[in-house]
Amino acid sequence: MQEIKFYSTNLIAKNVNVKEAVLKGLAEDKGLYMPDKIPALTEKELAELKNADYPEIAFAILKKFLSNFVSDDELKKICDDAYDFPVPIEKIADNISIMRLDKGPTAAFKDFAARAMARLMELFLEQENKKLLILTATSGDTGSAVANAFHGCESIKLIVLFPEKEITDRQRKLMTTLGDNISVVAIDGKFDDCQALVKDAFVDTDLTGLNLSSANSINFARLMPQIVYYVYAYLKLDKEINVCIPSGNFGNLMGGLIAKKMGVPIKKFIVAVNENDEVANFFKTQLYEKIEPSKNCISNAMNVGHPSNLSRLIALYGGIMDEKGSIKKMPDMEKIHRDMNCYSVSDEETKQEIKSIYKKYGVIVEPHGAVGLKAMKNYIAETSDSTPVVCVETADPAKFPEVIREVINIDPPLPESMREAMEKEENYEKMACDYETFKKFIVSSS
Ligand SMILES: *Cc1c(COP(=O)(O)O)cnc(C)c1O
Repeated sequence: MQEIKFYSTNLIAKNVNVKEAVLKGLAEDKGLYMPDKIPALTEKELAELKNADYPEIAFAILKKFLSNFVSDDELKKICDDAYDFPVPIEKIADNISIMRLDKGPTAAFKDFAARAMARLMELFLEQENKKLLILTATSGDTGSAVANAFHGCESIKLIVLFPEKEITDRQRKLMTTLGDNISVVAIDGKFDDCQALVKDAFVDTDLTGLNLSSANSINFARLMPQIVYYVYAYLKLDKEINVCIPSGNFGNLMGGLIAKKMGVPIKKFIVAVNENDEVANFFKTQLYEKIEPSKNCISNAMNVGHPSNLSRLIALYGGIMDEKGSIKKMPDMEKIHRDMNCYSVSDEETKQEIKSIYKKYGVIVEPHGAVGLKAMKNYIAETSDSTPVVCVETADPAKFPEVIREVINIDPPLPESMREAMEKEENYEKMACDYETFKKFIVSSS
């Protein structure tokens, strides 16, 4: 097969191969890497995967991007190892299923991407005989997924920064009970302060020798694994589907759009956002205005006022958006409207939906999934489309016990994987929000 090259969405940096794209993360011109062609998944290949399990489907998809750099044996091991947990698709009504992506070690869908990315980076670093020091700032879910995924990697050290007073005990314990190559720092400040410290470190020339990298959703290695579960969903339902995706930075949606481009029969994407409705407005008015600062909604992993993957979505439809969010060339809006409808859902509607889903089907969903289910209802009311819908549930309700308790008066049970972490001893540093102190810490951990 002809090698896939990766271009930067800003179109200035030179094209790279998949290995360079994964190890670099962001292109030098601050654009995001996109494949210059999307590999096809033929009807015959889809038919052959019909009875495959999740790791086998992951292998077939990832191989299309990685075969020149990763042997079949290595890739098979990565997939078997990364996906050792179930991916249930529960039918709740005639044409509605919920795909639960919350059965990984940190009970949120970010495990899918982080676990494959960590193993892939480790392999590439071994091939190059290099080591990486990864810095990541988190407001909760990303940090725990990434820390769990990188735990035990020989070539990688990870430092996670979190705002001391802004995350839950459960989220904190998922990171602070690991140890080994994972260092965790509580910053006396806000999430934005943590992010600023990380950014300062990346541009500090004193640290150039340390080979710093990041693990947020700009890395193509985090997108690739998110193609797989849409292929899996189609194969399980075995007919054309619509997919409903609760979205923040739009990485999850990008995975779905690439799956469709590869040839998976997905008719429509129902894109669900909370009160941060900049993309819903953009689709309506063709004018893009980011929301600064982003609004604080109960579906907090989707509180994004300028989605980092939007420039990728726009590139996929022939447009250009720079890293600041200014559109240099309009994408094909007609095609975008053909492929997706976007709905914004308020906090009040989200709570109502949690209540209504529980009453009607006896199923507990958490705020992110509820935003999705409400958007799906809006879509069906608007279009009367009767295509079966797969709604993505991105986290376990036990991660948001306060809201669930308030709305339906139930304490969602803690999943086994989280229970273990809750009982282990915690270990983390506390630090003032001061760059010089953080810099000393980085140097001493390297
Ligand atoms: C990150 C996250 C999302 C949003 O996913 P994007 O890929 O950023 O759109 C939704 N739900 C949960 C629980 C998340 O952690």
